[in-house]
Amino acid sequence: MKLKSLTLLAAGAALLVAITGCGTPGSAGKPTASVSAKSGDGPYQLELAKAPTFAAGSTMEKLAKAGSIRIGTKYDQPLFGLLGTGDVPAGFDVAIGSLVASKLGIPFTKIKFSETVSANREPFLQNNQVDIVVATYTINDKRKQVVSFAGPYFLAGQAVLVLADNKTIKGPEDLAGKPVCSVEGSTPAANIVAKYTAKLVPTDVYSNCLDPLRNKQVVAMTTDNVILSGFVDRNKGEFKIVGKPFTEEPYGIGLAKDDTAFRAFINDVLEKSFTDGTWARLFAATAGKVLDTPQPPALTRY
Ligand code: GLU
Repeated sequence: MKLKSLTLLAAGAALLVAITGCGTPGSAGKPTASVSAKSGDGPYQLELAKAPTFAAGSTMEKLAKAGSIRIGTKYDQPLFGLLGTGDVPAGFDVAIGSLVASKLGIPFTKIKFSETVSANREPFLQNNQVDIVVATYTINDKRKQVVSFAGPYFLAGQAVLVLADNKTIKGPEDLAGKPVCSVEGSTPAANIVAKYTAKLVPTDVYSNCLDPLRNKQVVAMTTDNVILSGFVDRNKGEFKIVGKPFTEEPYGIGLAKDDTAFRAFINDVLEKSFTDGTWARLFAATAGKVLDTPQPPALTRY
């Protein structure tokens, strides 16, 4: 995925100014910010469901009654989940998790975030350490054997990142037999070995791949295009993405296996956000600062 053009960035900045109401008054002399966009809860300005009622015994009822939810997300991935000021994560995944919380009537301050690195996601759900995982988490059949997924809420694809001055690696085909960094328990790590016979240099979080790449201990790093775009953006001029995405990585919200009612509830929340403009607003306010805002994907209610 290519980064936005400067023009688009400027347009995004203008939009942000409009949302936050920090801009100059509009042509009619009125502020450009809409009041409702500023009145919601937390950093993503989400309207809280007021005293929502749910079926007795459901996960939704339990969480709404408790007034808090445990969300697993990434802490080192710019644009989707990155630990920010006050040790609070920020990004599109965090916004999507907050959206689910808001529909349970749970404010942002009552969300208990934990870091779920790629290899921890299934175990954290299986051991009931989190209620949901929103963490660039690809829906696939293997994972569906132990957890359930709502979504998808975003479509990514595996890509390859190299040093900006690299002239020899143009895509995954050039990685056969070469040392490539990726993260244990991720789909791109498995794929780069199985399909492209790269020599995997595994680590636990993607940010740990950057120094080995700088030091030329590895020739490339591989994961989803949007994660790599975040690192390109944060380390200006150092890295580049080569070639086109070569897999499909539909991101889902992980939850306990076979909690069908909770999955249907989250799917309803996502579907509504796709059509009422919330999904696009949340994307534009997070990952959309660097990436173009795409159309929301189609849900798969398996
Ligand atoms: N989406 C891929 C996965 O779920 C790669 C990104 C990640 O490791 O979070 O494995």
